[in-house]
Amino acid sequence: MLVIKFGGTSVAQAARLRAAAEIVAGHVRGGATVTVVVSAMAGVTNALLAVADGVLADTSDWRDQLRLVVDRHATTYAELATDPPLRFAVLCAQMEADAATLRLFRATDVARQRLEAARFSGWGERLIVDLFATAAREMGLTAQAFDEAPILLRDGTPTEVPEPSVLATRALLVPRVMPLMYRGGVPVLPGYIALDGLGQPTTLGRNGSDYSAAIIAAALGAEALYIYSDVPGIYTADPKLHPEAALLPQLSYAEVRAIAATGAKVVHPRTVEPLARWHIPLHLRSSFAPTAPGTDVVPLAEPTFESVS
Ligand code: ASP
Ligand code: MG
Repeated sequence: MLVIKFGGTSVAQAARLRAAAEIVAGHVRGGATVTVVVSAMAGVTNALLAVADGVLADTSDWRDQLRLVVDRHATTYAELATDPPLRFAVLCAQMEADAATLRLFRATDVARQRLEAARFSGWGERLIVDLFATAAREMGLTAQAFDEAPILLRDGTPTEVPEPSVLATRALLVPRVMPLMYRGGVPVLPGYIALDGLGQPTTLGRNGSDYSAAIIAAALGAEALYIYSDVPGIYTADPKLHPEAALLPQLSYAEVRAIAATGAKVVHPRTVEPLARWHIPLHLRSSFAPTAPGTDVVPLAEPTFESVS
């Protein structure tokens, strides 16, 4: 079983969703059982954070900004030649009501406001999963979106550094997705969003969907995690600034963690923790050139992060 994660630019419009769904179909044709994890469409998380800031600052145009986010998803359904399901209207209505509730936090401290705004920004992941499943069905796959948070945290209090529980996540996810997977279907899960120890919605922090995918891979006992983004892998330097940078074909978990910790925009720095702990290989690839070589991170004889469970 593979977990395959797509970043925001890989799902940013109908053509990109089709290309991503074709990548999944290729893995399925090769005999793999696949679970998909997706980020929000590129730009949507920022747009939702701006909506939250608008509500908190009591500006009047946040409804218009929110409408643009809804319209972008509705337009993508149209481009996929599908009417949005009733569920889409339900989620959009809940999202707008949720935005309005942020006004309750106008008088709270800034740290709490940031957590509430971040929580609100998780709607982007809830809206994209069904669009991905729609594109995957167009490719002949039996795909189903699960728009609820797939990850459970250990702690009950909102915190800046969420600690996920792989085992609690397993208990939540297995009954949710295994019946579909037994039938050869492809579950499509939202990255980024989680439930804290009190069952309250939260997120894993900015760019957290790589980390989501790693936790989900560990929870479901995946053989490997593929992360498709807009770059093939990790380079010796930032290839956008240094054209002579060379792709690194193979790295250890510790090396990836060290590179990510420098702030290099490769993967979320904590992504390798559950992968190393559960000995799950990581394959970084570009969804724009899916057959091009990427970076492979495979279990070697090295210490694992035993504290993760
Ligand atoms: N959509 C979220 C963000 O932009 C999570 C992610 O992309 O990994 O931060
Ligand atoms: Mg994103």
